Amino acid sequence: KLRQREKAYRLNELVKNFYHYILLNHDIAAGAREYLLKRGIDRATIEKFQLGFAPPGWDSLLGFLQKRGYSPDYLEAQGLVTKRSTGTGYYDRFRNRVMFPIWDHKNNVIGFGGRVLDDSLPKYLNSPETSVFNKSKNLYGINFAIPAIREQEHVVIVEGYMDVITCHQYGVSNVVASLGTAMTREQGKILVRYAPNVYIAYDADTAGVAATLRGLEILQDAGCRVKVVTIPDGKDPDELIRKKGPESFTRLIREGSKSLIEYKLAKGMEKFDCNTIEGKIGIVGELIPNIIRIPSEIEREEQIKLISTTLGISSHSLWGEIKKYQQKFR
Ligand code: ATP
Ligand code: MN
Ligand code: MN
Ligand code: MN
Repeated sequence: KLRQREKAYRLNELVKNFYHYILLNHDIAAGAREYLLKRGIDRATIEKFQLGFAPPGWDSLLGFLQKRGYSPDYLEAQGLVTKRSTGTGYYDRFRNRVMFPIWDHKNNVIGFGGRVLDDSLPKYLNSPETSVFNKSKNLYGINFAIPAIREQEHVVIVEGYMDVITCHQYGVSNVVASLGTAMTREQGKILVRYAPNVYIAYDADTAGVAATLRGLEILQDAGCRVKVVTIPDGKDPDELIRKKGPESFTRLIREGSKSLIEYKLAKGMEKFDCNTIEGKIGIVGELIPNIIRIPSEIEREEQIKLISTTLGISSHSLWGEIKKYQQKFR
């Protein structure tokens, strides 16, 4: 079993080196080098993140690996080639894409993400689930971020590969991505092991807000103290840092982040009319499950004060609602 895992890691390492070599040396990768340059990725970052290029051919990787004794069947199981739906044979899963190797926390290459160089779809293609790649149990960038997370005692979670890479290039190193999928409970448990304070800095679009609201619940359940960073003007952390510099992002984390309750309170006031009784009841109803899960009494009291001042209701009646809720769900 262990040997099987080692074998898969060794294969992924070889594949990573293949794509990386092509990106740096091959004529066919000129467009990909140009693309990364245009996005501001420097040479040191290409090296650190071992970025690569999957050539456009149908069997470049397959041919390379077959010469080294790997069977197409095994490569399919490892998510690197795909079986043709008609006839026989296999073809490379990743073609004409910039490649992002994904490491686990022990520096094993467990999978890949690949991005197109233009606007074609799908923009990103990831490895499927394999014997060593479990998307819901890994975080992109964790291998590079651990020392900074431990030192700063907080971690910032972003959506995408490019967000992580740009943050690290500019020295913001306590940053990981949830691999595009919505955050999972397993990822929450991993994060809380490294640092109790988690900042969600997802994209400021509709999908990002929805993922933030789900992520808040998951991280609170995992026992994290969670805060939300809202990137201005509908951008993501990569674009913010490119346009306004890394300090604009770190300042936003330090001074502009909202606690879970602050964030949900603001969202509730967008959804309900807080000038009406019904509106206030609606907002409070959505906050109570989060209030009762705040582990620190002192912080809970602080957040209750915030809610009551903001909505113009007494702490006393808020406590009353909390008691009712607790009786109902005991
Ligand atoms: P870029 O800046 O390169 O355009 P992005 O990271 O800002 O990309 P988003 O659309 O914000 O792209 O998506 C965030 C993350 O979600 C991506 O980095 C990727 O991990 C994941 N993702 C996006 N689209 C897909 C897809 N079609 N399939 C799988 N994962 C995806
Ligand atoms: Mn997005
Ligand atoms: Mn982006
Ligand atoms: Mn994005």
